[in-house]
Amino acid sequence: MSGGDGVAAKDPASQTAAGAGSQPRKGYLRQFELVERVRGYDPSVDENLINRAYVYATVKHGAQLRHSGDPYFAHPIQVAGILTEYKLDAATIVAGLLHDTVEDTDATREEIEKMFGVQIADLVEGVTKLSQLEIQSEENKQAQNLQKFILAMSKDVRVLIVKLADRLHNMRTLSHIPKPEKRRRIALETLEIYGPLARRIGMEKMARELEGLAFHEAFPDMETTINARLAQLRVEKGANVAIIIQTIMEVFEFAGIDARVYGREKQAYSIWRKLQRKSIEFSDLADVYAFRVIVNNPDDCYRALGLIHQTWRCVPDQVEDFISNPKPNGYRSIHTTVIGPGNVRVEIQIRTEEMDQIAENGVAAHWRYKNESYGFDEETAASAGLDAREATRSLLEIAEHGGEAGEFLEHAKLEMYSDHVFSFTPKGTLIPLPQGATPLDFAYAVHSDIGDRCIGARINGVDKPLRTILRNGDVVEVVTGDKVAPVPGYDALTKTGRAKAAQRRLEKHAKREEFERLGRDLVAHALHRYGHELADTALKQAAETLGKHDEEELFIAVGEGSIKASAVAVAAFPGLKEKVRKDEGRRPMELEKAKLYVRGSDLTPGVALHFAECCTPIPGDRIIGVHTPGKGVVVHTIDCETLAALEDGGEWIDLAWTPTALNKTLAVGRMVATVENKRGVLAELCSIIAENQGDILNLRLAKRTVDFFDMIFDIEVADARHLVNILAAMRASKSVKEAERVKG
Ligand code: MN
Repeated sequence: MSGGDGVAAKDPASQTAAGAGSQPRKGYLRQFELVERVRGYDPSVDENLINRAYVYATVKHGAQLRHSGDPYFAHPIQVAGILTEYKLDAATIVAGLLHDTVEDTDATREEIEKMFGVQIADLVEGVTKLSQLEIQSEENKQAQNLQKFILAMSKDVRVLIVKLADRLHNMRTLSHIPKPEKRRRIALETLEIYGPLARRIGMEKMARELEGLAFHEAFPDMETTINARLAQLRVEKGANVAIIIQTIMEVFEFAGIDARVYGREKQAYSIWRKLQRKSIEFSDLADVYAFRVIVNNPDDCYRALGLIHQTWRCVPDQVEDFISNPKPNGYRSIHTTVIGPGNVRVEIQIRTEEMDQIAENGVAAHWRYKNESYGFDEETAASAGLDAREATRSLLEIAEHGGEAGEFLEHAKLEMYSDHVFSFTPKGTLIPLPQGATPLDFAYAVHSDIGDRCIGARINGVDKPLRTILRNGDVVEVVTGDKVAPVPGYDALTKTGRAKAAQRRLEKHAKREEFERLGRDLVAHALHRYGHELADTALKQAAETLGKHDEEELFIAVGEGSIKASAVAVAAFPGLKEKVRKDEGRRPMELEKAKLYVRGSDLTPGVALHFAECCTPIPGDRIIGVHTPGKGVVVHTIDCETLAALEDGGEWIDLAWTPTALNKTLAVGRMVATVENKRGVLAELCSIIAENQGDILNLRLAKRTVDFFDMIFDIEVADARHLVNILAAMRASKSVKEAERVKG
């Protein structure tokens, strides 16, 4: 197979080998250098075996090239180089050299077995199986291959170690892959699968480097944000770090404990992971910094813990003893958090040198000489709490019993990142939100009270509209007002269910308030009309009579229009019943009475007569009748817009008002007013109408925007001129933007 895209896609190109001790001129380890390295920790190594494998790999990969233009064989050689850093046995080093030959060249398992033995052939085959996983991007296939691989690996953990070294070299050289989406996919796969696998077998150092490189590729904005904050913290807390180290050293020296103490900044990626799980304060030292105390033996670990607790107050429930209870991957250490100088929380990890080795390299820390041969020391590994099989057991269990393959991948992955966006409060608390979230979502994620009062946002120090979509790393400052109020058009401005629900609740509440205000005004008006004042009227009883719990509920019902204001007046003063009934009966111009008001030469005696709802004609209007089959004659104003639509829909009759109508009658006119959305505006309108001798029969809220709302009034008036006067008075009010008669 030539060095086509298939090869290049699987293994990113290498420009300069990043492995320690690599030969800078050539970019990869030369044959003798590799052998030297292995001999450095295993003097009895079969040099010939490594030499043969080195040559075999270079010959097989031949002229294949990496993206960088380097020969392909530089890659397996560098992978072998990484494996020497972990002091692995010759078979593992050879497997590293040969790991891509079966996949990418004409080499076969049989040939490798014949030349290098069954053990090495098994290792190469195991790695090849996982390599197939990288080619498949479809989730199910990935999961199935991963399962197969893990099952194969459970027989020999070295397969996984080779695979991790392979991935590490590919990550170190990732920048040579030209397509950004491919780089990103590889980086995400590293974060989701390889980092956690490395950690599971205790190879913390490997996991750190893999994740650091992948994080840089996949989430550069986040990395920049976190690093910038870490740099800031370094300035703020740097002195503290020195004081803590010095204090510990002094205390230990006094007690005669031999110890090495150093501080370690947590990795940007692990801080980010922590920020995802919970909102930690980025300013808290313990969240971003850990101190290591390395002592000579396990006894000293406990003595050191005691001394530290005598020096600083320990935080309850933060002491973890992984020496008596090692993690399944063999990790042993004591963790404690204390309140250090300046009331700063300080995390301290106490362990021996050997425990530190295992904490960094896990399973890979157990290769050593025993019984005159070099290899994995199962006995000491077991005594250190590590079982190579145990380390992968829970993954295996999921693989075997986890049901669907896709489900398995879900378990293996850390989390899905792509559908999230991560932003900060000005104090540095990380707020995770779904992709597409806005400042309003952010406000509610911080606190419901902040969401309820949100009126604007400053993003990265600049005022931005609430519709702004948040991006990773944005620092968001929510601008709040004094009052709790829904944000107009909130539905389009929210992504999270939490924000939507809260805003809906606010809107409902605001509407209730508005209805209550409206209902109160209508009832006051109705009472006033019959000589009573709201202030002097007890409505509790009336509310119960009308089936409402209290006054408030009663007003809301009136405001919504489900109870008439006049009905409330009657409930409060039963003596008004007759009077109100008479008034009510007088108002609508029903069929019988209408005949008294309208005349027309073509009007057939006895025909049913209706007044159109669309234009609500009142005496004084020029009117026309439309003969409508089944309905009789419907009276419209001459300029009613619906007439145009009716043009050939019925016979038109010329009509006029009778003198009775013009002189005595009250009619109902409908008008719409666009008014300012503020307290007291309704009372103002009601008094304008009352001052002009109009009576409000019906009132409802229509369209509502940010600052204004439309109200539709049905007003009892003497005639059209009367209505025009009321409209004029309304327009004169500062609160009224527009007032029009509703017609057509
Ligand atoms: Mn490879």
